[in-house]
Amino acid sequence: MAARPMPYLEGLNPAQRAAVEALQGPVLMLAGAGTGKTRALTARIAHLLTTGTARPNEILAVTFTNKAAREMKHRIGKLLGEAVEGMPWLGTFHSICVKLLRRHAELVGLKSNFTILDTDDQIRLLKQLIAAEGIDDKRWPARMLAGIIDNWKNKALTPDKIPLSDSGAFDHKGVELYGAYQTRLRELNACDFGDLLLHMVVIFQSHEDVLDQYRRWFRYILVDEYQDTNVAQYLWLRLLAGGHKNICCVGDDDQSIYGWRGAEVGNILRFEQDFPGAEVVRLEQNYRSTAHILAAASGVIAANKGRLGKTLFTEGGDGELVRLIGHWDGEEEARWIGDEVEAMQRGTRGMDPMGLDSMAILVRASHQMRAFEDRFLTIGLPYRVIGGPRFYERLEIRDAMAYFRLAVSQDDDLAFERVVNTPKRGLGDKAVQTIQRTARANGVSLVEGARLVCEGRLLGGKGLKELTLLVQGLDRWHGQVRAEADTHVELAEMILDESGYTGFWQNDKTPEAPGRLENLKELVKALEQFENLQGFLEHVSLIMDNETEEQGEKVSIMTLHAAKGLEFPAVFLPGWEDGLFPSQRSMDESGLKGLEEERRLAYVGITRAERICTISFAANRRVYGQWQSALPSRFIDELPADHVEVLTPPGLYGGGYGAAGMAAQASPQMQGMDRSDLHQKAASADVYNSPGWRRLQSRSQQRGMSMPSEAKNMTIDLDAVSAFTEADRVFHQKFGYGEVMAIEGDKLVIEFDKAGEKKVVARFVVSAEA
Ligand code: ATP
Ligand code: MG
Repeated sequence: MAARPMPYLEGLNPAQRAAVEALQGPVLMLAGAGTGKTRALTARIAHLLTTGTARPNEILAVTFTNKAAREMKHRIGKLLGEAVEGMPWLGTFHSICVKLLRRHAELVGLKSNFTILDTDDQIRLLKQLIAAEGIDDKRWPARMLAGIIDNWKNKALTPDKIPLSDSGAFDHKGVELYGAYQTRLRELNACDFGDLLLHMVVIFQSHEDVLDQYRRWFRYILVDEYQDTNVAQYLWLRLLAGGHKNICCVGDDDQSIYGWRGAEVGNILRFEQDFPGAEVVRLEQNYRSTAHILAAASGVIAANKGRLGKTLFTEGGDGELVRLIGHWDGEEEARWIGDEVEAMQRGTRGMDPMGLDSMAILVRASHQMRAFEDRFLTIGLPYRVIGGPRFYERLEIRDAMAYFRLAVSQDDDLAFERVVNTPKRGLGDKAVQTIQRTARANGVSLVEGARLVCEGRLLGGKGLKELTLLVQGLDRWHGQVRAEADTHVELAEMILDESGYTGFWQNDKTPEAPGRLENLKELVKALEQFENLQGFLEHVSLIMDNETEEQGEKVSIMTLHAAKGLEFPAVFLPGWEDGLFPSQRSMDESGLKGLEEERRLAYVGITRAERICTISFAANRRVYGQWQSALPSRFIDELPADHVEVLTPPGLYGGGYGAAGMAAQASPQMQGMDRSDLHQKAASADVYNSPGWRRLQSRSQQRGMSMPSEAKNMTIDLDAVSAFTEADRVFHQKFGYGEVMAIEGDKLVIEFDKAGEKKVVARFVVSAEA
């Protein structure tokens, strides 16, 4: 029999090839960024298939994001010369576990159509439980409890397994609340994100037959980004691989960036213990980046202690120096990057034009994105945001989704609470209490409770009529989902129509109503790509990172965390300032753990770049609505000077704008003044006396950069500048989240999500753009 062609082996180096061809037994590929780990893993899958060693559905392949899973599927198809249809078990831990859990939900007391709660619902539920316990939720906020519970779940700890040493949370009531929360989730036929894995681990640990079935089923296991698995994921893998031990994990300890979410880099180090005799493959050649970029990244990460340490080399040539540039503020930084992107697109400094798909902006914190989005919208630069489920977080989208959730499962009490009086239909607090009481007394869901209220006529005239209509609607939609009578897209439209939700926004006269209606249309459009409503709901709960599917060349904006595993010819790394990157939290922490994780994040960022890497910082930044002067990041000091070129922007170092221009940029109120006016304002300023500015100044001088002479003794009364602008997303202690509609002196007119439009004093409001 003629051997089948194996084109995927071509071009692999000997070490990669060894990892691809060692199909049996445990393999650990431990290597630095861009050394072809993912490529080798992909080739290994192609090899398993081509040699007939495994069928597509016998391969369990875990990636870190849905996007990475899609890309891997695509790459395998390319390697094999045909699209791979049947790789049902290639996905993230979560997406794989959802599928498994639907099959075995009853083993943990759920039904197979369970709902996956988002953070908001989770918090709401915890709030109710905390209140029921009579605990002061100011001292012990629900959000904190959510974090503690997530932590336990990441460690695969069910309430009965929490060690004594770990049970002090919430005045020792934490464990109890955790138990109550799990019980409540079961009653709601729901689970949260952490449960997806936790439940599966519990099922595997307590039902040997189920575990055996999957051990036979998943004959080959492959895991990318292994350094970021948490304990629950690790246990899950170890259980599944325990029989045949055909497991191949690839990772890089220097890229472990999810410690804050319970990832344990120690899992890598334990691999050889867990799987004795494992073949350990090391890769040293980096195929992604030029020598300057690689040297800059290596220089930064070298400051971390406790690394396994590895050498990396590239044959890619020196390439361009890593570029470093400082700006006056975040807006200016965004403006400059926008210009630079356009220049690269045209072809600049003797370089060939570069497509927008080749460029990415990687931020430390998602609130940094807004400045770029605003700027790019202004100049009409196409961009896509990856990371941060922004669209699905919107009020109208969440309301609509609650209706969809109820159409799929009537046990979803949280969804019912959300829609019962949205749009307003005269079912106020009292009516809701009646429904809740009835439901509780009869041990049924709120929808059932509502039905009983209608039957027993427990509400007065209008309320009764409205509730009857709502229940009838819910039954009709649920019936349609079950009967698969209409396509789910038509059904979704129908639900939004019949519930009165679309009409509610059509009658709304606020300026944002048209946008909300657009979003609802967009939501229905998004549905088209899914087989049914349930699949869509699952998708939404799973996309931690908002992966927009639109076509066309676009510059990408995403967080550093979301950029893991990706590569781009040109990368911009803005916001390298102490307090932002490294984050304030990591700097305040005692010990180096947080700081070292931030440094690994810097390493991940730089190593995403193939040819051009541009790092920038701003001297001033508005953080949570306050102007702050900032220091360049300590990581900038760690960049090896020989591999860095300092660029001079027009704004900061005495180029085009000068002091007056800088003042204008600092203060929106000064814009539009003439130059002499501006100069006068600028002359009485004080920003430049701040310690931050002085440190920046001395660093600039060390680097041979000059500061404008006027800049030495300036003050800008930043208090006079309103911290907010229209359309800012804000939080108010009493009214919750909302959007700034107008600014009137020291007051803001805010459209609150829940409380509607209110005028409030600006200083009681904080930015919620994080
Ligand atoms: P990261 O740690 O960032 O996830 P990685 O180790 O997974 O990186 P890959 O993404 O697999 O690295 O590979 C980096 C780049 O190098 C890709 O563009 C890949 O196609 C290329 N590459 C990998 N191996 C080779 C090789 N043997 N010859 C040529 N190019 C290669
Ligand atoms: Mg990779």
